[in-house]
Amino acid sequence: MSNINTMDVEAVVKQVLQSMLEQPGKPVGNAGNEIPKTARVAMLTALEKYEIKEFPIPPVGDGDILVKVEGCGICGTDAHEFKKDPFNLIPVALGHEGTGEIVKMGKNVKADSAGNPLKVGDKVVTCMIFKDNPDITMFDLNKQNVGGADVYGLLPDDEIHLNGWFSDYILIREGSTVFNVSDLDLKSRILIEPCAVLVHAVERAKSTGILRFNSRVVVQGCGPIGLICIAVLRTMGIENIVAVDGEQKRLDFAREMGAEKSVNFKDHKGIEALAKAVEDAFGGHPADFAFQCTGAPAGHSNVYKFVRNGGGLCELGFFINNGDATINPHLDICSKELTLVGSWVYTLRDYATTFDFLKRAKGIGLPIDKLITHEFPLEQINEAHVTNLKMEGLKIAIII
Ligand SMILES: [Zn+2]
Repeated sequence: MSNINTMDVEAVVKQVLQSMLEQPGKPVGNAGNEIPKTARVAMLTALEKYEIKEFPIPPVGDGDILVKVEGCGICGTDAHEFKKDPFNLIPVALGHEGTGEIVKMGKNVKADSAGNPLKVGDKVVTCMIFKDNPDITMFDLNKQNVGGADVYGLLPDDEIHLNGWFSDYILIREGSTVFNVSDLDLKSRILIEPCAVLVHAVERAKSTGILRFNSRVVVQGCGPIGLICIAVLRTMGIENIVAVDGEQKRLDFAREMGAEKSVNFKDHKGIEALAKAVEDAFGGHPADFAFQCTGAPAGHSNVYKFVRNGGGLCELGFFINNGDATINPHLDICSKELTLVGSWVYTLRDYATTFDFLKRAKGIGLPIDKLITHEFPLEQINEAHVTNLKMEGLKIAIII
């Protein structure tokens, strides 16, 4: 055999091996493994108690998608469920900030909710399920937010059980929204849901006509929501941002995320002194616009004092009812001619916009990944929730 022939044989073998690896329709990556008969689901079976249960993996219908879960963030909503079960869902499969890989799908599934093709091996996230209103799509002008729709991870338990992302597998049923996010890494995909909340809030803020690229913006509250708010503003080109919080660690992170200055409210006695400190941070000007990202009623009362006459305010800190706040309508709203918008959750369109936000944020070097401060395996989901309640970290994630 001549050398040339040897090379030919090598080339052919290589090609055959390559084509075997790339067989169309053949699952790749994790999906290459056999799909097991059962899945592990972390069920919240009592207050502050998850149990890992095994359930059979149900048949995948023609419009369904079976996803092998890779990870899921723990949300404030999960913390409320864990502590108090306000939605009366126990026993429940929680986890709505999840993502994973398609391992099997019905023959009718061709594309995601944005019209992008879907195949086995793609990485996906879900958004809302319009069970009662299947005609709503992301391109509707009707800006229905997720508040009125069902979401995986907050569904009542049923005979399928694979309804939340704190599990090995989740069955995405026909009629659900699903997005192909294969071009985002795992951490970005886990952060999509909380980031969508801020993409929505900034859209609401823009509707006032006051928020511009050169606005002076104060962001009060530097938990995950406030930090992501700063990142969204930065990706819009807004640079003159002052962060306000009582924790120096969080303020330092706010600076990393793009805030120009920070003010620790613990350093200032009383709202007048605090408002003065914010004004000083802007070089002697009050803010044009404020984002209120704390869940404290006092935070709402205070935030008006940071804003100039004719300025704007977006209140987004109250995902749940945390009580009443006192304001002075004359000073805070009327004589100031303040424009106030509220923001809650997001729309489908904001969800899709968020994928681009995450790419842009990384593109300009914002340390978005650092928002995930703790990772736990599924078996340690109780510990993960306890850690979350201690509020030591920012975003806690379950990595399967
Ligand atoms: Zn959430």
